[in-house]
Amino acid sequence: VGMTRSQQMAAVRQADTPPEVEIRRNLWKRGLRYRVGIRTPGGRPDLVFPRQRVAVFIDGCFWHGCPEHYVRPRTQEAFWCEKLRANFERDRRQTRALLDHGWSVLRFWEHEAEYDCVKVCETIAATVRGELAEQRHRRVVNVTLVDQVADLERRTIEDLLDAAFFETTHGPRRSRGGGVARRRRTL
Ligand SMILES: [Zn+2]
Repeated sequence: VGMTRSQQMAAVRQADTPPEVEIRRNLWKRGLRYRVGIRTPGGRPDLVFPRQRVAVFIDGCFWHGCPEHYVRPRTQEAFWCEKLRANFERDRRQTRALLDHGWSVLRFWEHEAEYDCVKVCETIAATVRGELAEQRHRRVVNVTLVDQVADLERRTIEDLLDAAFFETTHGPRRSRGGGVARRRRTL
């Protein structure tokens, strides 16, 4: 009673299975057989199709810098920035290593797995069949506060596969799911 739609969604999500489990279930129903947590030239992807050499990663929106959902941490900024950069470099290394070894690499955001499970599974199925869809791998690598009063931040976004990067300036970001307004901190 009295819950907004996004609050209801959040409540459902917590009780629900993690997005990855949903993906696995869907793939299984499609007759696709994968391996979980096995070693490849690029680390241990979340799902692996060894024979077809397809690696699938489900990247968390916060840890891997989702352009839509990354929220600038309000404390220990330097620590988190370093962490974000380290994750980016590791993702880049692993993706390149797999591509160099002739693998197909699919990286999905956690939010895609959560809200577009069917589409994600269709992309995986097509790739396993040998039809590789082109993917963008843009992620947030750095965020700096440029205006405390307006809570404006400048974000640097880079691509995992090429050297392209660009910067954008944003107002305050809300946590994933939106709906719940974050109270602006007074400094
Ligand atoms: Zn996201």
